[in-house]
Amino acid sequence: MIPSVLPTYNRAPLTFVKGEGAWLIEADGRRFLDLGAGIAVNALGHAHPALIEALSEQAHALWHTSNLYRIPQQEALADALVEATFADTVFFTNSGTESCELAVKMARKYWYEEGQADRTEIVAFSGSFHGRSSAGIAAAGSEKMTKGFGPLLPGFTHLEFGDHDALKAAVTDKTAAVLIEPVQGEGGIRPVPDHCLKGLRELCDETGALLIFDEVQCGMGRTGRLFAHEWAGIAPDIMMVAKGIGGGFPLGAVLASEKAASGMTAGTHGSTYGGNPLGCAVGLKVMEVMTAPGFLDGVSRRAAHLRQRLEGLVAEHPEVFTEVRGSGLMLGLVCKATNTDVMKAGYEAEILTVPAGDNVLRLLPPLTITEEEIGEAVSRLGRAASAVAA
Ligand SMILES: *Cc1c(COP(=O)(O)O)cnc(C)c1O
Repeated sequence: MIPSVLPTYNRAPLTFVKGEGAWLIEADGRRFLDLGAGIAVNALGHAHPALIEALSEQAHALWHTSNLYRIPQQEALADALVEATFADTVFFTNSGTESCELAVKMARKYWYEEGQADRTEIVAFSGSFHGRSSAGIAAAGSEKMTKGFGPLLPGFTHLEFGDHDALKAAVTDKTAAVLIEPVQGEGGIRPVPDHCLKGLRELCDETGALLIFDEVQCGMGRTGRLFAHEWAGIAPDIMMVAKGIGGGFPLGAVLASEKAASGMTAGTHGSTYGGNPLGCAVGLKVMEVMTAPGFLDGVSRRAAHLRQRLEGLVAEHPEVFTEVRGSGLMLGLVCKATNTDVMKAGYEAEILTVPAGDNVLRLLPPLTITEEEIGEAVSRLGRAASAVAA
C-alpha cells in the first residue's frame, strides 16, 4: 500500500523534535550536530532568537494579504537586497524552483520585447540543479531528473561543466540567457573558478545574452560573501535566490537589473503567497544579521578553520576521503568510499551531512557554527570514517 506521504524520498530513520543553533535533537534527547542545515536553509542555525522574534511579532500582527495590496515588509526586504547587490528590482517567490521559473520567463520576455521573439535558447550545464518544476528539470537536463516526465520544456542546451570551447560555440544570437550556479551544489560542490565567471560575463556582454546566476544554494552568506559571484568581481543580469534567505521560512527571490526586468510589466507574472508578510519579516531579519559589520568575515574565518581541519581529516583517512573542495561553508568531502555509507555512519556518530553528485559528502553547516562545534564535527566525522573503513 502506498504510504500516506507520497514516497518520493528515501528518508533516514531519524525524527527531530527540537533545534538549537547547530544542533538537532530527537525525542529521546539524542543530539545531532547538523552539518546539513536543512540543505543550506537554516543559515543562522535553528531557533535563532532574532528570527523567532521577527516571526512571532509578525504572526501576531498579520499573516497574509496577497499581492493585491502593498506589503511593507516586502518593500523593505526588496530595498535591502537592492542596496546590498547589483540588482535594481526583486520579485519574491516561495522556493528556488519558482525563482527558476521566473528567471527563465524574464530572460525570454526581455528578448520578446526587444523584437527578437525567436531568441529563446537557454544555455545550461551538466551536473546543475535548478529545481523540480518543468523548467527546472529541463534546465538541469539529466536523465535522473527528466526520465518519464516528457515532453520537456524546449529551448535548453546543456554543456559539459568546464568546456570553454563548447561554451563559445553554444552562445549565439539565439541565446536568451546563460544559466549557471557559481558553485554547483547538488552536482557535488563544484565551484566555477573566478576567471571562468569573468570570462562568462565577457562572453555574455559580447553576444548580448543575459547572464543568470542560480545562487539558491551558494548565496546568502554561504561562501563568506553575501553572494558567491562577488568573489569574481562581476555581476549577473538575473539571480535566483532561496534557501538561506528565509532562514527556514519558505522564501525565495529573483533579483534583476532594470534592463533584464524590463519586460516584466503588470500582469506578466504573479504569486499568491510570494513575498507575504511572514516570510519577508523573517527575510528582513536574516538580511539584517548577515549584513551587520563582521558577520561575513566571521563566516570566512570559521570556513578557513573548518577547511583546515577537514584537510587533516582527509589526510588521516585516505581510504575514505580523497579531497576537500568548495568555498566558504559550502564544502564537499570527495569520497573514495561510498558517500552515503559515510553519511549513514555519521548517524551513528550523531552528525548529519548531505550527499551530493560525484560521490561527494556535502557539508553546509549553519553559518553561525562555533569553533568548538567545528572541532566536535571533525571528530565525529573521523569516527564515521573509521567505521566505514573498518
Ligand atoms: C535547492 C536548489 C534549487 C531548488 O530550490 P527549491 O526551494 O527546492 O525549489 C534550485 N537551485 C539550486 C542551486 C538549489 O540548490
